[in-house]
Amino acid sequence: TSNDLTSPRRRRLGVMGGTFDPIHHGHLVAASEVAHRFELDEVIFVPTGTPWQKSKRSVSPAEDRYLMTVIATASNPRFSVSRVDIERDGPTYTTDTLTDLGRQNQNADLFFITGADALEKIFTWRGWEELFDLATFVGVSRPGFELSATHLTNIDSERIHLIEIPALAISSTECRRRAAGDAPVWYLVPDGVVQYISKRNLYRADQTTRADGS
Ligand code: ATP
Ligand code: MG
Repeated sequence: TSNDLTSPRRRRLGVMGGTFDPIHHGHLVAASEVAHRFELDEVIFVPTGTPWQKSKRSVSPAEDRYLMTVIATASNPRFSVSRVDIERDGPTYTTDTLTDLGRQNQNADLFFITGADALEKIFTWRGWEELFDLATFVGVSRPGFELSATHLTNIDSERIHLIEIPALAISSTECRRRAAGDAPVWYLVPDGVVQYISKRNLYRADQTTRADGS
């Protein structure tokens, strides 16, 4: 029908959730590679609010993690950053993230990007079976973790894809450890993020000792 000719094709939107404390090149390569392989129009990076599975360690302020994510993605015209999770009160659940982004982008199909380590634990997420109604999942390889979806039984195979991406053995944990010990994080994170960490004094040893002793 003429309707098919005039209605725009549905947009393909990647969603890269993370604590991003700090964002590093492993995150950026994952997003870039999935964008290429799945012909995505855009990838939205979504820094978490209070990460419920990380409540044992104190996480940097959401505003710092948000700004580092903006700095790291600014030069890529297809990358953007959303504040939905940091502006929602309470802990972040991916079902809420995808519901909110779906509402804001009704003419788009969502592709949630996740590393092999996170994929391993997905069935522990609140409402995890519903996740696959909200987005197609793309699990990406990560050094040190096995990429597999055999534990996600009953999930439509069209809704979960596994891909090998260039291996970067970088983690935020290791970046924080390095920054705390005055070891370089150059080339593990974008230059602007190196400078932001030092300007804001993030991850310094004297900041990691908390009242609760963690
Ligand atoms: P932390 O050490 O604090 O857990 P992280 O490096 O794992 O940090 P997160 O913010 O926890 O980073 O991860 C966000 C998403 O990016 C997750 O889906 C994670 O699996 C994925 N990811 C992180 N680092 C890599 C990497 N080097 N290669 C592939 N995927 C990655
Ligand atoms: Mg992690």
